[in-house]
Amino acid sequence: MSNTWIVTADPHIAALVDVGRAIGGTITVVAVTGDGAQLLGVDRVIVVPAAAGVPAEALAPAVAALVAARPGDVVLAANRPAERVLAGAVAARLGAPLLSGVRSIGPGAAELVRFGGIALEQVTSASVLVGILEGGALASGEAAPVEVATGAVHSARITGQQTTEVEQVDLTAAKRIVACGRGFRAEADLALARELASALGAEVGCSRPLAEGQEWFSKDRYVGISGQHVGPEVYVAVGISGQLQHTAGIQESKAVVAVNNDPEAPIFAQADYGLVGDLYDVLPALAAALR
Ligand SMILES: Cc1cc2nc3c(=O)[nH]c(=O)nc-3n(C[C@H](O)[C@H](O)[C@H](O)COP(=O)(O)OP(=O)(O)OC[C@H]3O[C@@H](n4cnc5c(N)ncnc54)[C@H](O)[C@@H]3O)c2cc1C
Repeated sequence: MSNTWIVTADPHIAALVDVGRAIGGTITVVAVTGDGAQLLGVDRVIVVPAAAGVPAEALAPAVAALVAARPGDVVLAANRPAERVLAGAVAARLGAPLLSGVRSIGPGAAELVRFGGIALEQVTSASVLVGILEGGALASGEAAPVEVATGAVHSARITGQQTTEVEQVDLTAAKRIVACGRGFRAEADLALARELASALGAEVGCSRPLAEGQEWFSKDRYVGISGQHVGPEVYVAVGISGQLQHTAGIQESKAVVAVNNDPEAPIFAQADYGLVGDLYDVLPALAAALR
């Protein structure tokens, strides 16, 4: 019978519980948060309590020791900062592979998404597999018996916190996106894209050079293999050449519109609608037509 462990610092683990249920057997959660009451739909919960001011990461050795005592087949963690540390500690303790980009996982085998989804990698291993996946919503279902564990805690303490104001946007939830590329000559010219986005009811995104390098946009606005993977109804790529590293992030788009003054630009091979022209002429005309 398979035994799945979930290590977590947050009760949002519904997707991990689903994976554990699909694997079959029992699910044990090791939690470094709360009293375990929110960790529903599993078979057993072990809470590792932390004193006030101790970060979840400091409990990683205790979590790893608990899992290593009876490791089972698969260990799952959500793709969040504290959980990545917990999963890393468990993998190191077990000498097991730590897998990111997990698409599916089970005893001894996993399928991983690579290069922004344009390739899949099959992994097999005789050892336990430790996988990092999206955590999902709050878990639901029956309450499980909760035990409280003790264990080694690193001496780390939170001594101060600084809050940074950052613009945050969830492009993955956007229904329409107008994305800007290096075809824009100056930051002030982005007003043309914002005007079109406003007429379309769209979010504004960009290619990587405009977020990393020019820094005209925050990093959560760039689309591609190392940025956001988006799937809007309409994706308008303006002054974007269409390099693979960018287009890997727009594969789920329902319709792609490209505006580029180079008729040979690779983006046109990905586009459902192509407009060959100077964006400085095309965007105002499009925005006016949509108003
Ligand atoms: C490891 C790695 C990861 C990367 N990850 C990403 C990623 O996640 N996302 C990403 O976007 N990039 C990524 N890149 C960078 C990527 O390879 C390209 O360099 C980048 O996507 C190019 O951005 P661009 O299309 O805006 O610029 P360019 O390639 O310079 O294209 C600009 C386009 O604008 C057009 N243009 C110019 N003037 C006008 C005008 N007046 N009107 C209309 N069109 C005009 C040109 O014809 C051209 O096609 C990555 C690169 C590496 C090495």
